[in-house]
Amino acid sequence: MAEIFDLFLPTRQSAFVQRRRALLILSRVRLVAATFAVLTPLWIPIDLIIFETSLALYLAALRALASIAFALLALSYRGSDSVVVARWALVWLLVIPTVFFLISHPLLGQFAISDPAQQVIAAGYAFLPFVMVAGLSVFPITALEGVVLSLPLLGAYFLTGVLGYQMLPFASHLGAQWLLLLLAMVSTLAGMSQLHFMSQLVDQSSHDGLTRAYNRRVGEEMLVQQFVTAARSQSPLALAFVDLDHFKSINDKYGHEEGDAALRAASTSLRKILRRGDILIRWGGEEFLTVMPNTDPSGAMIAVSRMRAAGLGMRPDGKPLTASIGVAERVVDDIKSWTELVEKADQRMYAAKQGGRDRAIGCGDILIAKTEAVAV
Ligand code: GH3
Ligand code: MG
Ligand code: MG
Repeated sequence: MAEIFDLFLPTRQSAFVQRRRALLILSRVRLVAATFAVLTPLWIPIDLIIFETSLALYLAALRALASIAFALLALSYRGSDSVVVARWALVWLLVIPTVFFLISHPLLGQFAISDPAQQVIAAGYAFLPFVMVAGLSVFPITALEGVVLSLPLLGAYFLTGVLGYQMLPFASHLGAQWLLLLLAMVSTLAGMSQLHFMSQLVDQSSHDGLTRAYNRRVGEEMLVQQFVTAARSQSPLALAFVDLDHFKSINDKYGHEEGDAALRAASTSLRKILRRGDILIRWGGEEFLTVMPNTDPSGAMIAVSRMRAAGLGMRPDGKPLTASIGVAERVVDDIKSWTELVEKADQRMYAAKQGGRDRAIGCGDILIAKTEAVAV
């Protein structure tokens, strides 16, 4: 149910899925805009052959303007991965043909179009809103976006009827309006199913199958993003490097299956103590990174204490599974890149191993072992 509900509102998607969705929408907007930039003027000779010259010239000017607008759109929004930007790109993609329709339709209405060939070509202009509404189906959109994006098209079509510019008798125009509404609903459903398919693919390819934490490839991408965001807003960004202690011996003594179960349990425990907005990455075999945006070193140490208090599950022999943890923070450790942040946390994790395992070392070499915190 929740999965279906997620397809209704744009805010229900995770930040990672949103970014992927934005990239997909933007690349498709650019592709469609580029295609239309090329195709729109190609029709000019046909108009010139079929319609009387003054009408054909008006239409040609309109087509040239639309083609320029499409070309500008195709060249815009490079390098952006924001959903807001993607939504605007979609809006512009629809605005161009809507304006084209609102001008061309009354224009065609003003000229006497009696010849059957002229009627056929003019009908093509009348079908533009149908093409646009159907085109929505190639974008991964939510129900709300489908409604908001198709309403202006429905409105524009309705307006031409009310103003008397329709090429069909009014009753047929209303029938066509009805068809347009159905088409908008089907397109929105198609867009929602694209979004569903895309979210599932993104979800599968970004998570590690065993632990359900983010995999390293995606984790690195997220770290880059988080580091850039934190540096831009001059906010703290904390990282905890968690390496399970003596993990190999679980495999050696009890087999790989038990090892896998212990890993899964550790990941579940780690996820439970994280806040919304924190990120859990499986960095290596039995190594996890927890990325904590907007968290200063003391906040990070509180999170680590909670982690240690909640435990990481049990070893098959009934003893608690422990970890050595290193914490680093962008501002206090004066760190310039995400790789340096990971290195710093890794170094402290290593120091925690050297110090006897089952402990955490934070900024300023603060040590947490056996629930007490002391400076070393
Ligand atoms: P230390 O306390 O020094 O960290 O010792 P350790 O045994 O945890 O560390 P080491 O790096 O020697 O070994 C890590 C082990 O984790 C080796 C590998 O067999 C095990 N491991 C890594 N990935 C998986 C996995 O997906 N499943 C299982 N069952 N074991 C794994
Ligand atoms: Mg290790
Ligand atoms: Mg280990």
